[in-house]
Amino acid sequence: MSIKETDERYIAHTYKRFDIAIVSGEGCICYDDNGKEYIDMTSGIGVNSFGYADPVWAEAVANQSKLLQHTSNLYYTAPCAELAEILCTRTGMSKVFFSNSGAEANECAVKVARKYAAEHKGADCYNIITLNKSFHGRTLTTLAATGQPNFHEKFTPLTEGFLYADANDIQGLEKLVAENKVAGILIEIVQGEGGVNALDADFVKAVERICRDNDIIFMVDEVQTGNGRTGKLYSYMHFGVKPDVVSTAKGLAGGLPMGATLMSEKCSDVLGYGDHGSTFGANPVCAAAAISVMNRLDDRFLDEVADKGRYVRERIEAAGYPVSGLGMMIGITPEKPVADVLAECMEKGVLCLSAKEKLRLLPPLNIPMEQLEHAVDIIIGALK
Ligand SMILES: *Cc1c(COP(=O)(O)O)cnc(C)c1O
Repeated sequence: MSIKETDERYIAHTYKRFDIAIVSGEGCICYDDNGKEYIDMTSGIGVNSFGYADPVWAEAVANQSKLLQHTSNLYYTAPCAELAEILCTRTGMSKVFFSNSGAEANECAVKVARKYAAEHKGADCYNIITLNKSFHGRTLTTLAATGQPNFHEKFTPLTEGFLYADANDIQGLEKLVAENKVAGILIEIVQGEGGVNALDADFVKAVERICRDNDIIFMVDEVQTGNGRTGKLYSYMHFGVKPDVVSTAKGLAGGLPMGATLMSEKCSDVLGYGDHGSTFGANPVCAAAAISVMNRLDDRFLDEVADKGRYVRERIEAAGYPVSGLGMMIGITPEKPVADVLAECMEKGVLCLSAKEKLRLLPPLNIPMEQLEHAVDIIIGALK
């Protein structure tokens, strides 16, 4: 049987895959099982921060795997301690909880907000406000957090206590806060799956103010936007706000599963012994990979990410198409249906993503200009 036949026979049909099998890659180039070459503008949905088989990343992973691939969270290990120190130092946050995915990072954030509110405002203060068109994960709690009713159908009852506000509607948010007992507000600075929609700066600042005024935990989901993707280490840093909780995952370990939930001083002691856990969380190999990623995301590198994002935006806008997003998280509104654009790009050797009706680009952060230019040429040709 071919890869495709075996896959379709034995794997649950939750993913509508494109008709190619990726077998290997190097940098921002990958190859399918026929040896066809593609420029990857997806990074495995924002995961492979430094592309495929990056030598620095691969060495960090290989070295750690030969030393200690896993123990339990009953013992101290060096890689997660070092990574936590890096994350806290670079964000000003106080504590980290490590998990394995974006959904888990958000699940932890929700638990922090709920426990903080239960202790400070009473057990009946448990509501979490998220935004319409948001995406926060696939567990029953993070699905409830996801403000898209079509994801909820057939899986009810979901976790209770989620309310939805419209993005950029400050008055609507204020009304929801006034009329309900609210433990936390969770936002994506740029909604990824929801269509690469960047929030207005005024709205982001208003969310922070409303949280401060009402002792509500201000949470930012940086699962997709984090770890350099938008040209800052975390996307909230574009707006001068200070969240109480930041969740991240995707690009953190550059291709290995790792989630992290960062907590500010205000809620650094909310989770105590036995309140949360994860067998694989803080896995030493994943942590070593994440350290190698974080150490390369210095200011100069982040400026280059911003410059490359600007380059793509200018080229696409000059070609006459609206562009949304921040840094190297780019949404493009094509003239023809996005499925056709994806197919044409793939045919011409460029892998892209979609988000709702938009074309979505999440290239490796270190994509060389030459390959970026070539990919943009092909994309522009396919938009019409
Ligand atoms: C992908 C994503 C998630 C879910 O992450 P998983 O690792 O698939 O659980 C959550 N939030 C945002 C913003 C995402 O983009």
